[in-house]
Amino acid sequence: MPELPEVETVRRIVAEHIRGKEMIAVEVNHSGVLDGISDADFSALLLGHAVEDMKRRGKYLIFCLDDGRELLLHLRMTGQLVYFEDDFEQDKHCHVIVRFAQGGWFYRDVRRFGRFCPIGVDGKTECGLKKLGLEPMDRQFTLNYVKDGLQSRRGPIKSRLLDQEFIAGIGNIYADEILFEARIHPQKPCSELTNCQLKRLKKAAETVLEEAIAHRGTTFSDYRDGYGRVGGHQEHLKVFHRGGKTCPRCGETIVTLKCGGRTTSYCPKCQKR
Ligand SMILES: [Zn+2]
Repeated sequence: MPELPEVETVRRIVAEHIRGKEMIAVEVNHSGVLDGISDADFSALLLGHAVEDMKRRGKYLIFCLDDGRELLLHLRMTGQLVYFEDDFEQDKHCHVIVRFAQGGWFYRDVRRFGRFCPIGVDGKTECGLKKLGLEPMDRQFTLNYVKDGLQSRRGPIKSRLLDQEFIAGIGNIYADEILFEARIHPQKPCSELTNCQLKRLKKAAETVLEEAIAHRGTTFSDYRDGYGRVGGHQEHLKVFHRGGKTCPRCGETIVTLKCGGRTTSYCPKCQKR
């Protein structure tokens, strides 16, 4: 599932190429990826218009159209948003194709859980957007914000990191990587984190996500960047998906456990209970 670094990578690439270009053809092959809007209204929303800018909040992309309207896209599990210059190999998973006079973009999604939703129609997709917490790169993401969000919680820190209403954009991959970087055991109760650990956690959340963006995100199966390429960060992961391998910091064997139902990898020596 694409997390903040993957969605940001897609945004940077696609935004650069689609800004200001008039959309002259819109094809919807599977209306299941539209939320709160019909095929015809979706086409009308885009046709003859241009995307002025593309924003991101957490794992959501927002197309800002030249008439002030906004369209939300959540890639969910297997969604791919790809810019094409000339043409591309179309398959049965390409559900939306939008063309400019030259080139365009398409939305491909094997599992079809992703959704386009115009902002302002109160579709289910938009509800999630409204409740999002801060992101580690936000200026208001201070040590106090982190403390306030954790101090009164008794649950494991790993589960809390996945709570989008606390921190937006983190999923299973980066939660494990952040906890490794901060040297915190994934099952440590939030309320028991020391001041030092809280500081390390805040810093790790920033650096881990920034590094992953610099590598254009992590691909294990479906994630592709805005050009349709696999990401590069899977080569740099320290613990995630590395159970049984050695810890890059201390050489201990990385172990996996279930935390809140999610497979979790950590180093038992670097991240003591
Ligand atoms: Zn270690």
